[in-house]
Amino acid sequence: MKVSIYKNNSTKSQTIGNILSKLLSRYPDTFVFDDAKPDVVITVGGDGTLLSAFHHYVDQLDHTRFIGVHTGHLGFYADWQEFEIDHLVDSLLTYEGRTISYPLLEMTIQYTDGKKNNFLALNEAAIKQPEGTLVADVYLDGERFERFRGDGLTAATPTGSTAYNKANGGAVMHPSLASIQLSEIASINNRVFRTLGSPLVIGPDETIRVVPLNVDNGVTLTYDHLSQATTDIEWLEFRVAKEKIAFAEHRHTRFWHRVRDSFIGDEVID
Ligand code: NAD
Repeated sequence: MKVSIYKNNSTKSQTIGNILSKLLSRYPDTFVFDDAKPDVVITVGGDGTLLSAFHHYVDQLDHTRFIGVHTGHLGFYADWQEFEIDHLVDSLLTYEGRTISYPLLEMTIQYTDGKKNNFLALNEAAIKQPEGTLVADVYLDGERFERFRGDGLTAATPTGSTAYNKANGGAVMHPSLASIQLSEIASINNRVFRTLGSPLVIGPDETIRVVPLNVDNGVTLTYDHLSQATTDIEWLEFRVAKEKIAFAEHRHTRFWHRVRDSFIGDEVID
């Protein structure tokens, strides 16, 4: 098994990553370190580290499996804890290759000079106007649906639905649903300006196109932890990607358990 350990820069993650590397080195017949073309990427850090590893290996999703070890507080993708790394190594020794795959977002950006770019996102993409109100037409499958005015819009994957999308009042979606959820960031709604005012979810064969109408002040496009500022876009399109992310499923935390652990915890019921 070709393994890469992808860690963030915190002292704790570096230490845990080095211990993990030593543990794996005890089995040279089973584990070979290969950062260029790994079968398994073990991230050590938090969700941000896993997002960063995802983008690092985004061209190798067909054969790469991810495992997340968290050294911070909330670990939504990173569901192994640092004190479990012995157990993680043991389970990799008997790992039979089962995976669990989650949907991704594909974003197409059409620039005003005619160029197009495609990006994949694990959590979401967002369009925002840093100064002033974003005015944008939203099309669903080629038909104009609404004119949005507000801070911005996010388009989230099911596993990203617990991140930025949730902060916008979006629903938490089970990752078995190949879907993308569009949610509004502070829309203006009154008798003059009207948007749906609630998140909407598209299925695998649909597209959402966002045509910003006032890009002269610049818009910021984000996808996961990455962002770019531009004045040169004509439109953005969001759809469920053909590609998926695969996690090694040798100890799988059920999605709703993860949601409960992350957001509710052990509440006291009188
Ligand atoms: P960050 O350091 O600002 O972390 C944001 C928080 O989001 C962290 O606590 C992280 O654990 C959590 N998170 C990330 N993915 C998650 C998921 N799928 N479910 C639940 N929580 C999740 O930034 P980062 O670590 O680089 O992460 C980038 C992400 O931050 C973006 O993809 C976006 O979802 C999120 N974000 C959220 C808001 C908001 O909630 N208002 C605003 C901007 C960005």
